[in-house]
Amino acid sequence: GLLVVGDVVTDVVARHRTPLAPATDTAAEIRTLPGGAGANVACWAARSGCPDVRILARVGTDRAAWHEERLRRAGVRPLLVPDANAPTATVVALVDAAAERTFLTDSGAALRLGVGDWSPSLLDGVYHLHLSGYLFFAGTSRETARLALVTARERGVPVSVDPASAGFVTELGVGRFLAVVEGADVLLPNADEATLLTGLADAADAAAKLSRHFPLVAVTLGAAGALVAASGGIIARVPAPEVRAVDTTGAGDAFTGGFLAALLSGADAASAAAAGCRAGAQAVTALGGRPQEG
Ligand code: ADP
Repeated sequence: GLLVVGDVVTDVVARHRTPLAPATDTAAEIRTLPGGAGANVACWAARSGCPDVRILARVGTDRAAWHEERLRRAGVRPLLVPDANAPTATVVALVDAAAERTFLTDSGAALRLGVGDWSPSLLDGVYHLHLSGYLFFAGTSRETARLALVTARERGVPVSVDPASAGFVTELGVGRFLAVVEGADVLLPNADEATLLTGLADAADAAAKLSRHFPLVAVTLGAAGALVAASGGIIARVPAPEVRAVDTTGAGDAFTGGFLAALLSGADAASAAAAGCRAGAQAVTALGGRPQEG
């Protein structure tokens, strides 16, 4: 199976129709949705046909059961560590009439994933490990993610990493990020992250450069699709299906889930990227970061 080590997050999306002001906006529509980059990748991989997908994550006791239920319904086996001392990670997204978004985030229990939560036996029956980049931004979860990566490599289990966000990579430092993900087999950045990691403005140049350090690199380009690089050169350029975008939350996670499901089923990297683009395009047509139920 595929093991994802990552973050499970509650997304609270509030749409308001007027500019935000210190008053009660009774016209607001507020939805609570399951999210988190790691959990979204796991759900999209399962939706894309990957068998036996599991996720290891820490959640608060406040919403552990709610998240478990939603992961199970999406076909993912939840390995959630309940934390009585922190709430489940929560992101509040304020979306205004012009679709401008403001995010307020509380990483809560997610980044408290500790080395004591890891065990090599978590890799029993696992043939691929995916690490959500968010884990790398707090000491405790970073140490745990690194330990998981090293254990997987010792066992010959390939590892993929998604850098999460350019802002977080900047905060951590590019050198530090590259050092901590050293040894990963697949890197899945978006164009901004690829540029940040290499200092190269052109996404194709950045992808090619990254592929000298990581055996397989797929860089996502939003509506323009994705690039795949290996051994220092571009090996595929894949267009994204044309769709009407409603909410781009989780597009990158959907790409990663679709890409990994295809790759693990034996597809070549170019076909895997095409599968990733199909999942990404599907994700932007609906609200939230998870596949639609049913
Ligand atoms: P991230 O969400 O990590 O920034 P991207 O914005 O690059 O990632 O999107 C990931 C993938 O989702 C793209 O490679 C593409 O396949 C798909 N996608 C994103 N935005 C659109 C769009 N407007 N139309 C069609 N596909 C899209």
